[in-house]
Amino acid sequence: MVVLEKIKLEKHEFVAFGWKDKVRAIIAIHSTKLGPACGGIRMWNYSSEEEALEDALRLSLAMSLKSAAAGLNLGGGKCVVIGDPNKDKSEELLLALGDFVQSLGGTYITAEDIGITSQDLAVIAQRTRYVVGLPEYMGGMGDCSPYTALGVFYSIQTALEFLYGSPSLLGKTVAIQGLGKVGGNLAELLLSKGARVLGSDTIEERCEWARSRGVEIFPPQEILFQPCDVLSPCALGGVINEGTIPQLRCKIICGGANNQLEKDEDVYLLEKMGILYIPDFIANAGGIISLSVEMEGNFTLERAKERVKGIKERVGELLRIHKEEGANTLEAGLRMAYARLEGD
Ligand code: NAD
Repeated sequence: MVVLEKIKLEKHEFVAFGWKDKVRAIIAIHSTKLGPACGGIRMWNYSSEEEALEDALRLSLAMSLKSAAAGLNLGGGKCVVIGDPNKDKSEELLLALGDFVQSLGGTYITAEDIGITSQDLAVIAQRTRYVVGLPEYMGGMGDCSPYTALGVFYSIQTALEFLYGSPSLLGKTVAIQGLGKVGGNLAELLLSKGARVLGSDTIEERCEWARSRGVEIFPPQEILFQPCDVLSPCALGGVINEGTIPQLRCKIICGGANNQLEKDEDVYLLEKMGILYIPDFIANAGGIISLSVEMEGNFTLERAKERVKGIKERVGELLRIHKEEGANTLEAGLRMAYARLEGD
């Protein structure tokens, strides 16, 4: 990948732009204060370079907050690739992305995200050693989304306990937007604990799969507005906004998607509606936590699961700050992250 330019920004350490043939890629490094910036590669059909840059900046910030709040010695970074993974992804492109990551000399460690699989990482790893989430046959942990789902599951239980006095899912209704890797795993965990699960996906096969497991399927335009105890956004960001909030009929929002709130101020509207929002960067840290176990070497399932369990305590601490110090839940989460990011 040819690196076009590297630019320093006010709130980010730098952004690097690269390209291979017609495909453009951007790596945004928000912070390396706590350690190398880690975050996945997202390949998406962005409508413009500005949209892709905006996404890279927001997602790399979210990675900094997530790792800091989770107590990891990792910073925040993200790579976005402008292109359709079904049409534009090739071995040459993946190798070029490996060169791009390698050119930053370990400042950025890459992983998978939407449009990039663990198998793709195996190709990228031919050109860089700064990659985690490799397939198991290469000594990696493979897909980290089951751990993300587990962390969201623990977060839901902790939020239920805060609101209803019990973490039990029996008789509780959870609506999941997006039944992909995170949403699908989460649905199975919830169903196994007796929850009623409503779900939606834009891909018919995912709906069929979920229906066969016991999920009640709703059209994509209706899922956010179903009466439920917990709404769990597990598709894309920005779905909680001025337009959708007045129509929500949930008590809790807790999901896997990054940047669920379109704007930070949306948390005030949620407060007014009496909806408890668990910040995504606290609830969805299971993936990066399990990747950090891979980075330490000798990854085991048990060790990763044990580490992800720590999310329960962090959501508990967040809700304590919310209750005792009067901070809204987003502020409480940001305090937890910035205590490390801005500490000595
Ligand atoms: P995925 O692509 O496997 O699943 C997303 C699913 O959402 C897809 O099946 C897609 O068809 C569906 N979808 C898209 N738009 C929709 C809509 N409007 N309504 C209903 N469904 C829709 O991705 P994933 O790995 O499950 O990740 C889901 C979200 O969680 C993403 O925002 C991702 O950034 C975030 N996240 C994932 C991980 C991880 O470990 N995979 C970690 C942290 C955060």
